[in-house]
Amino acid sequence: MSRHIVCLTFDFDTMSGFIARGMTTPTPLSRGEFGVIGARRILTLLRSRGIHATWFVPGFTIETYPHECEAVVDGGHEIAHHSWAHVPPSSQTPEEEEADLVRANETIRRLTGRKARGYRSPSWDLSPHTLRLLLAHDFLYDSSLMGGDYSPYRVRLGDEAVLGQPYRFGVETELIEMPISWSLDDYPHFEFVRTTQSVLPGLQSARAVMQNWLDEFRYMKKTIDFGILTYTMHPFVIGRGYRMLAFEDFLAKLIDEGATFTTMEDAARSAAAQLPARR
Ligand SMILES: [Zn+2]
Repeated sequence: MSRHIVCLTFDFDTMSGFIARGMTTPTPLSRGEFGVIGARRILTLLRSRGIHATWFVPGFTIETYPHECEAVVDGGHEIAHHSWAHVPPSSQTPEEEEADLVRANETIRRLTGRKARGYRSPSWDLSPHTLRLLLAHDFLYDSSLMGGDYSPYRVRLGDEAVLGQPYRFGVETELIEMPISWSLDDYPHFEFVRTTQSVLPGLQSARAVMQNWLDEFRYMKKTIDFGILTYTMHPFVIGRGYRMLAFEDFLAKLIDEGATFTTMEDAARSAAAQLPARR
């Protein structure tokens, strides 16, 4: 029997990403603050559809907005790891990275009663140590890599990329990768970000983006019998009114197409049960 799973994921960053980038003047901070309003709208929508999603929540957000994060837990959603301070691991020493990982996990344990099973790196930039740390801290899955789309796969350790030499593949591990893509992330499509070095134009039509996302599901359905598709959103981005309307219609169409909605943890377990033994 065919099964096409959709994982809706929400990175509940609030102000953490702006603070991590040094953008601490009032307007960027308030832009992150809007995520709380967006989160309430998303929770209401998911409840009305009976959908359980996965929320990647930095420790910063859990400690800044404890009641809002309890509401996420009360909605039956999974809380997954998204660092404490939203600093990309690639810019941390191994010691800093592990300390942040442990601190955030402790925050999640206090909120939910257990440690996170899944991890997504801030800004999708892992350090050379992250995957080893996730294995050492008993994570089930990561969701920061782009080496697939509909089929989760085993994370490898020890890959070697040397200029002028063929790529050397490392060994497969028990850690399951739930692959992601910038094209299935609301942020680059919608957010206008101007810095001294660059401009991210964003501000695309919400309906056009949702049509692309729906076609992604349809292609999965057309080409494979069992697949898992992950969409990434941010409450301060998708939570704007016209985007919420488009998102609501997109969800209705996914339901019509026969999508099964689960948390990432459940999807990762389903995927792991189907994967061949480690090579
Ligand atoms: Zn984030």
